[in-house]
Formats: sequence, structure tokens, C-alpha cells
Amino acid sequence: MTEAEIVPGLEQARAFAAAKHGLFIGGQWVEPLAGERFATRDPATGAVLAKAARGLTEDVDAAVAAARKAMDNPAWTEMKPSVRALLLFRLADALEAHADEFAALECLDNGKPFRDARFFDVPYAVELLRYNAGWATKLNGESIALSGPGTWHAYTLKEPVGVVAQIVPWNAPLAMAVAKVAPALAAGCAVILKPAEETPMTALRLAHLIAEAGFPEGVFNLVTGFGEQAGAALTAHPGVDKVTFTGSTEVGRMIIKAATGNFKRVTLELGGKTPVIVMPDADVAKATEGAARSIFANAGQICNAGSRLFVHERHFEQVVEGVAKVAEATKIGPGFAADTQMGPVISAQQRDRIEGYIKGGVAAGATLRASGGDLPGEGYFVKPTVLTGTSADMAVRREEIFGPVLCAMSFGDADLEKIAADANATDYGLGAVIWTNDLSAAHRLAKKLKAGTVRVNGGGLDPALPFGGFKQSGWGRENGREGIDAYLETKSVAMALL
Ligand code: ADP
Repeated sequence: MTEAEIVPGLEQARAFAAAKHGLFIGGQWVEPLAGERFATRDPATGAVLAKAARGLTEDVDAAVAAARKAMDNPAWTEMKPSVRALLLFRLADALEAHADEFAALECLDNGKPFRDARFFDVPYAVELLRYNAGWATKLNGESIALSGPGTWHAYTLKEPVGVVAQIVPWNAPLAMAVAKVAPALAAGCAVILKPAEETPMTALRLAHLIAEAGFPEGVFNLVTGFGEQAGAALTAHPGVDKVTFTGSTEVGRMIIKAATGNFKRVTLELGGKTPVIVMPDADVAKATEGAARSIFANAGQICNAGSRLFVHERHFEQVVEGVAKVAEATKIGPGFAADTQMGPVISAQQRDRIEGYIKGGVAAGATLRASGGDLPGEGYFVKPTVLTGTSADMAVRREEIFGPVLCAMSFGDADLEKIAADANATDYGLGAVIWTNDLSAAHRLAKKLKAGTVRVNGGGLDPALPFGGFKQSGWGRENGREGIDAYLETKSVAMALL
């Protein structure tokens, strides 16, 4: 271990990763029924990090049975909302108390800089738990005045949707898992969580904390395994009432099909090709810094990464030059090195895919304005890249890359209609960012952009702000009141008063 690697929580994280991991079903750690395990790798070295249980159809059956049982158990279904809240607050406290260990584990498993995990992913997961805990006591229906003949007492009840399968990706494994688990438990559902096969570690560690927090057995279940096995089995299972998924648009499409059998409720948070628009009056320094952060954070592995940059021609050279400088100066390395600003991407396959997009763009005539930083010898590292001169038909400009690759374009006048049309020229509609100090332009443009979240002069996520996509970026919203509503059914009760 090098000195730079000595970070808080590392020892516990390595010890946890090295332990034998099972599946968490019905309140117990159990062996996968077929007894199989799969290796996960440290993306900074390519070395095997841990072995996780490979959940198959029969394990999914057991997890669904346990979750169904929990939905029949008065210890859960009749639990007072304030107690559900308390359990979630307790879980938040436990996660906060283990923040170093979780951040170190995320860093080992996913590759992201320790600092990012410690100061963004883990605190955000804690906030998600606390925010959703607050909702548990506020899930009220309404009384309704009816207009038909007679006298009526009518009201709505908000009831948990039931057993929910939650399938999460590898780019922010803990935060993505908690963004789903917290509202589902606050709503009173029973959960089966399936983390990505590349990054199951923090979900496994979280399951231990959930077990200690005191939720009744079967309320939370964890099945590790592969998408096409455990994931597909969950999405097709007749005992599952709802699927929530974050991942690729391609898999989202498969999930919709698989869910039709019993008309599962489906929430999908899928890909993006977020436009970042720098208007003529923008604060150029802040816009440049924001544009670079938006595409290079987490090595571009963010569904909402600002991968298309539209800059007014007056500032185009300055902004592109500025973002290129950030790319060139980025210190690329393992997540544990104290000076690392960008870690590896998740896998060799993903690295090759990203490089394929860059090469394809250059071969089709794009100009490489920056391909920055020295790459360490081992691991799945990619250079932060800025391209100009792309055309609308190039794959690098059209498709979600999920890597640190920016396509920069200029626009000639501040015609909002035209700017919005260019920004909207994508199958995706997850996010958009505007940099401007012109209040009217900001709000007019925000209205014209076809995106689930529009941010002006800044970025960030908040548990209270609904997040989700227009168009092929998904169905439904996570976070905020809408995020918890997605785990509730509305029941109308109407009684004739005789
Ligand atoms: P990414 O592009 O981020 O790798 P994927 O959409 O491939 O995203 O994977 C996200 C999650 O979806 C992972 O947990 C993965 O195991 C799961 N998954 C992949 N394929 C399927 C499938 N056919 N059915 C259900 N889940 C799947």
C-alpha cells in the first residue's frame, strides 16, 4: 500500500470486500441456491476485488416469496408511520457513522476518487434517507366532495404498491440504491434490490446496516447477480408489483417488455445527452468551470453528464480552450491517490467503447481539441476529451457515451427558438443546463427545453427535486413528493350516508 492510499475506512473496506458474501433474503444471509459466485474487479488495477453470490431464478423466487410474506406481516403493514420514519432515520445515522468505510468501499469497487465518494455519494445517500424518512408520516389521502345524488363520505387512501424490484447501475452504486430503497421503505413497500454486477459491495454493506436497523424480516432483500439472470427474473416475476430501474435505455426497453405480464408499475431513469448552453451574457469563467465539471465528474459516467456544449460564438474559443485546459490538467489515477481528480471508468469494455466513440468521431472529421492527462499504466483509464467540428449525424454527438467526452458547438445569434431546437435534437431528455444572467432568456429557454431537469448557472442533485426524463430518458420521477408517490397506489373510498 502506498502512502497516498492510506485513507480512512480503507482497512475495513478491504476486509469487507474479502469476506464471503451471500444473499440477504427474509432477514437472513443465505447461500445462493446453486452455490455460484462471480468476481468483481478493482477498475484502477483490473485485479479481482471480491466475490459476490450469483443469484439465479430460484434465488429471485425465494426473495420475492420473502418480500410477499413481509407485505402480509402486520409487523410491517401495521407499523406506525412514525416508526417507519424512525427506522429510516436510524439507518441514516448508521450510514453516516460508517461514511469513511462506505466511501472507501465505493472507491475500491467503482473506481471513483475517494473524496468524491466521501463528500458526495455517501452524504447524498444519508440525505436521501432523512428526506424520505420525513415523508413516511405525511402520506395522506384527501377527503373528496362528490356531486352525485345522495350524501357521501368519500376519501382517498395512499397505500404501498407492494413488492418492488429495484435494479441499479454501477456509476453511483450506493446513492442509486438508496434513492430507490429509501422512498420504497418510507411508503411501506417491500424491496428486492439488485445492484449492478460490476459494483455490488456498498449494497451488500448497506444490507448489514438495514438488518441492524430493525426492519421486519423480508422488508428488504438483496440479490446480487447478473442483469440477464437475476435482473431479468425479477422484471418478469408475477410476484413483483413494481420495477424501478436506472440504467441504459436499451435495458429499459427490455424491462418494459418483461413487465407487461402482470402489468407491473414501472419507473425508469435512463440515458441522457444533456446540453449545456452558454449564452452571450453568461459569466464565462463560471460557465467554463461548470461545463468541465458537468462532463468530467465521475469520468463522465453520469446519466445527466453535460456531453453537448453549445456556446455563443463570442465566447466559443475561450470556453473550449478553458475546458480543454481542465482536461489536459486533470490528474488521472486510482481513486485512493490523494491527488487524483479522475478515476478509471468501470471496465475494460467500457473504456474500449468510449475510445471507439472518440476514434469514430475523429475519423468522421471531428477535431480533437483536448485529450488530456497522462494515463497510469494499469486499470481502465480514459483521457478527458473535447471534440469540436462534430456533425449531428455522428454517433459521438448522438449517442450516450457514458464517458468523459464532450462535443462542443457554437451558435451565432441568441435566437432562443433555434438554440432550443438544437439542444432538443436528441432522443434523450434527461437534463439541460443554461448559463446566463438574462432572467427572461433563462426562463423562456427553460420552458422550451425538453428535459426533466433544467438547471441555470449551476448543478447538483437534491432529494427534494424531482429527477427523471422526457422522451427516451425514462418514465416517472425519483426524488421529491413525486418520487414517493411512485411507490403508492391511490384507493378511493366512497360511502353513502343513509
Ligand atoms: P449500464 O449501461 O449502466 O451498464 P445496464 O442498463 O446494462 O447499465 O445495467 C444497469 C442494471 O441493469 C444492472 O444492475 C444490470 O445488472 C441490470 N440489467 C442488465 N440487463 C438486464 C435485464 N435484461 N433485465 C434486468 N436487469 C438488467
